Amino acid sequence: MQIDLSNKVALVTGASRGIGRAIALELAASGARVVVNYRSQQQQADEVVAAIEQAGGTATAVHADVAQPADIERLIKTTQETYGGLDILINNAGITRDNLLLRMKDDEWDAVIATNLRSVYQLTKAVLRPMMKARWGRIITITSVVGLTGNAGQANYAAAKAGLIGFTKSVAREMASRGITANAVAPGYVETAITDVLSDEIKATALANIPVGRLGQPDDISKAVVFLASDAAAYITGQTLAIDGGMTMY
Ligand code: NAP
Repeated sequence: MQIDLSNKVALVTGASRGIGRAIALELAASGARVVVNYRSQQQQADEVVAAIEQAGGTATAVHADVAQPADIERLIKTTQETYGGLDILINNAGITRDNLLLRMKDDEWDAVIATNLRSVYQLTKAVLRPMMKARWGRIITITSVVGLTGNAGQANYAAAKAGLIGFTKSVAREMASRGITANAVAPGYVETAITDVLSDEIKATALANIPVGRLGQPDDISKAVVFLASDAAAYITGQTLAIDGGMTMY
């Protein structure tokens, strides 16, 4: 199936590395003009833009900390001013601040909720008007299988990721008649900086629970995201797609 996003503008939060990077590259390969948002890794974001341009695509890197409401406002405004619209929002930026609940500090809770959940509320709210005007829009939010199953040591992260699933369903219901779909993608264990820090023991246990028999790669996620962003997925909304090598089969 050929996916053509050549008239579309996409914003990918947290696209300087990992899953967001792969999504930005894949969207651009399908013809979308892409805003590559980053928080701290400007050089890596510039490299993503360079890779897209080298392949004949169009992209620009924009700094914004999605935990800061003023940054979100500027990010949306810059996207619209640069490319004249915003058709596809990929809520990807995310962090972990793991701790057992008994030891969890308020700032670990607050940081994860602000970056992983509140930002998605603000970003999504901000894109609805332009999408309603265009009578077309795609909102794709990267949640996690942890939002479905819970995980010891990740009460903050699981709460944020489960919140995103309920949020996505609500947005899908509110926007279904406007040509706007909202879906969530729940990766399992994908090899990125977020999982690099885990011990070999945790990685081995994860692997033993993945029927497909390997850890996920960013491309496993980006291919599905681009499909959900396309016209071919117009009848899919409010869903959470687990991409986890069969780990949860919820
Ligand atoms: P990663 O490699 O650590 O990359 C995180 C990205 O998010 C980076 O581009 C980072 O930007 C950006 N970011 C973090 N905080 C930000 C903020 N406040 N404002 C703007 N950007 C911010 O992580 P990843 O593994 O690719 O994860 C991407 C998404 O997938 C996250 O939502 C994560 O929860 C989810 N996920 C990952 C896995 C996995 O196994 N890897 C599994 C389930 C879900 P800078 O580099 O510029 O700081």
